This record gives sequence, C-alpha cells and structure tokens, in this order.
Amino acid sequence: MKHNARKIVTLAIGTIFWISIPCAAEWVGDARPLMGTEVSVYLWHDDETGGLELVEAVFDEAVRIDELMSTYKESSRISEVNRNAANGAVHAGAELAGLIQRALDISVLTRGAFDITFDSVGQYYDFHERERPDAETVAKEKQRIDYRLVEVDRVAASVRFLAEGVRINLGGIAKGYVVERGVDILRHNGVKNAIVTAGGDSRLLGDRRGRPFMIGIRDPRHDGEVAIRVPLEEEAVSTSGDYERYFDEDGVRYHHIIKPSTGEPAGGVHSATVFGPDAVMTDALSTSVFVMGVELGLTLIADLPDYESIVIDSGGRIYYSDGLEQPDSPAENDEP
Ligand code: ADP
Ligand code: MG
Repeated sequence: MKHNARKIVTLAIGTIFWISIPCAAEWVGDARPLMGTEVSVYLWHDDETGGLELVEAVFDEAVRIDELMSTYKESSRISEVNRNAANGAVHAGAELAGLIQRALDISVLTRGAFDITFDSVGQYYDFHERERPDAETVAKEKQRIDYRLVEVDRVAASVRFLAEGVRINLGGIAKGYVVERGVDILRHNGVKNAIVTAGGDSRLLGDRRGRPFMIGIRDPRHDGEVAIRVPLEEEAVSTSGDYERYFDEDGVRYHHIIKPSTGEPAGGVHSATVFGPDAVMTDALSTSVFVMGVELGLTLIADLPDYESIVIDSGGRIYYSDGLEQPDSPAENDEP
C-alpha cells in the first residue's frame, strides 16, 4: 500500500478499532478476511518487497493457526478433540495443548468468567440465521460449561474431557494468539514498527515512528464512531463488544459472549477493552471483563499490574481502571 506522504489514511481495522497511520512510502500492509473476521498487518520497512513478504508470512501464520484451532473446520485438531476427548486422551500437539492450558489458567484467574467450554451452549447460536438455543437446551447444556472438565497433559500434549458432551472453543483467545505470533514473526525479521490486528485484537510493535499509535475504541451503539481515543505503543489491546456478532429479538440483544454461570449472553456491558503486554491475555481478559461486569471486572484488572481496562456499560457510561489517566474532556483527535 503506497500513499502520498502528506495524505493521512484512516483505517477502520476490524469493526472495533480505528487507527490513523500517516502513510509514507515505507508503510506497507494489507487486510484480509480470515478467521471469520478481518486480519490486517501494517509495518514500516525500508524495502517494500521484503516488507510485503513479511505481511504474507503473517497471513500464512493466521491461516495455519486457524486450521489447527477453528471449531468451524471439521478437519482441525480442535474438532478432533471435541469429537473424541470424552472417550480418552486425544493428542493435540504442544502448541494447541499449551494454548488450552493457558485458557484453563485464565479460567482460574477469572473464577470461571472465561471458560472455553461455553461452547456446549455457544454451538447452538447462528447469528447470520438469527438462531439461538431454547431455554430447555440452555438448561441442559450449561451443566457442561465447566473448565474443570478439561484436562491437559502437557508432557503427552494431549487433552481429555471428564464428561460426555463437553466442547471447547478458543474463539475468545485465538485471535490474540494470532496477533502475538504475527508480531513475533515481524520482530524476528527486524521490523521495529508494526500493527497486527485480528478482529478486535491488536498488537503494536514499537510506535508510529516517533509518535504513538492512536487506538480508537468504537462507540458501541453508533457504527463507525469512536468513543475514546488512546495513544499506545508496544502494547496489545483487545475489545470485546456486544455489537460484533449478534441479533436483536423482542428488545433483547443475543450476542456472542456467554456468561458461563447462566449459559446466556452476558448483560450489563456494551464493550470491554483491555490493554497490556500480551495479546493472548488482553484477548481473554476483554472477554472476561465483559462477562464479569464493571465492578468485578475492574477489580480483577486492579490485581493485574500490567493490565488496564476501559469498560462502557449498557447505559453508555465509561469506566477506567485505576492505572489509567482519565481524560478531563472527550479526547481530541490529535491527528496531524
Ligand atoms: P472477538 O472474537 O469478536 O474478538 P472476544 O474476544 O470477546 O471477541 O471473543 C468472543 C468470542 O469468545 C466468542 O465469539 C466465543 O467464541 C468466545 N466466548 C464467548 N463467551 C466466552 C466465555 N465466557 N469464555 C471464553 N470464551 C468465550
Ligand atoms: Mg477477547
């Protein structure tokens, strides 16, 4: 992607973030539909061809991870785990077993707000078709939402379920993993400034060449509008929102973030954003804070010194975790 140096291109990244990058010739990048969302890579590179090769390498990595971890693909390793792990340990490989173990650790940290077994209920949603499970199905299937029913053997790199009907889905953590892996590839190839985004998850490498990247948190109820702008560098940021995958029925919003204790979409919050050093964590924590709600969610973040959060509740009020400086007035657009 080449642009006149004086031009500013505002990129709507995913449906959540807006990032403004002043495009000199050396910013290269692309965006592609992948993992049911948009994955984008922008980086600063001296040599355009070499830069674009690295962009491709990140997309290849996203495809590889999706093929391993997507429950929408029958052929994926995770689908094999879901089919067979109730009958005995299934070899998952070190990478998948490791990410499942991280998800289970985050379940402990969040007291079960983050739980990859949400899928026993989650599998019945089809947001395109406006389909949702009936009350009877929710009541039955929610008994199988319990991360303690998943056992990982790190030495054997295998996974076992302790009950019939358990299902896991890494939708709340896999995009964070993709952007973290993507940035690792860029870093190891000498890139110093980049942004890798998958849906609502971004990882920034360095800064916007002398200035921070400006990350916009979407206004949850006004498409295309930004509620808050935050300057960030060398950090990960994830937003979970009830406007990503949803349908409205009789005044109720049915969306994709399930509260494990009820088996229903979590209420009370429109969006939860988490910042911190690691995108796997920010991805899982944004989902967790969304489920936990303003008070419990921000209490969790207060206990994690490296992580901060901004929550917009269902009344449109904005809450900031303790470590964030709150703006006195709505943030100014500081684009040059
Ligand atoms: P996005 O996928 O849009 O970036 P999130 O990071 O908030 O949004 O992840 C939401 C996804 O997480 C859902 O689509 C689903 O796959 C999964 N999920 C839903 N509820 C939970 C939960 N309680 N714990 C873990 N994962 C969840
Ligand atoms: Mg998330």
